[in-house]
Amino acid sequence: MKKFHAVAIDGPAGSGKSTIAKRLAKELGYVYVDTGAIYRTVGYYIWICGIGGRDGDGVRRLLDDVNVRIEYPGDGLQHMFLNGRDITEDIRTPEISSYASQVSAHKCVRDFLLDTQRDLAASHNVIMDGRDIGTVVLPDAEVKIFLTASPEVRARRRHSELQEKGCKDSYEKVLADMKQRDHQDSTRAIAPLRQAEDAVLLDTSEMDLEEAIAAAKSIILGKLETV
Ligand code: C5P
Repeated sequence: MKKFHAVAIDGPAGSGKSTIAKRLAKELGYVYVDTGAIYRTVGYYIWICGIGGRDGDGVRRLLDDVNVRIEYPGDGLQHMFLNGRDITEDIRTPEISSYASQVSAHKCVRDFLLDTQRDLAASHNVIMDGRDIGTVVLPDAEVKIFLTASPEVRARRRHSELQEKGCKDSYEKVLADMKQRDHQDSTRAIAPLRQAEDAVLLDTSEMDLEEAIAAAKSIILGKLETV
């Protein structure tokens, strides 16, 4: 059976995971899998149903009605479909970030999405980013990177991204939301955000994007050479 390669990139919100992973996946000819988008899709459904993200029983009941489909139509974007509807753009709001974080703390949600993520890695070379890829989803990934940067740097990056999309949230609000989400993601009981023991730590606080991409690429190529 053909063995596919896997690169796991974990880290807190705004650490640059998706930008870096997307670019390197293109360069290496790997499929980029954004697992945050998968959790956001579930969070979005719970949000439109008017159920609180922390309401474990409510969330569990609604999961039966959720069909998540992922497509890669070739525009470099991972398209997310919820019950047949393309919601790729709808899940990128601060409200859905918060919902995704709340629903992802429930075991039923993590169990529901685990095979979807593993199946992608079983059939493609992947660069997969998230919070628990190196620790839970793909513990045997050949390359694991834990990407981080100071909260202020990450909030600045996220703030300008949101501004470009027309979101008027202040820098202070973006920083506070991000700290709250990091706290929630790293203190939850199941699959918390943490660096895998065999992951390489990459702190990009003092790097611009090109430097961060080059640093990640050199880690990946160095590790892949040895497998
Ligand atoms: O990566 P992104 O910010 O889009 O993820 C949204 C939320 O989804 C995170 O704050 C986290 O709570 C959840 N998530 C997760 N496990 C992953 C990826 C994302 O719990 N592997």
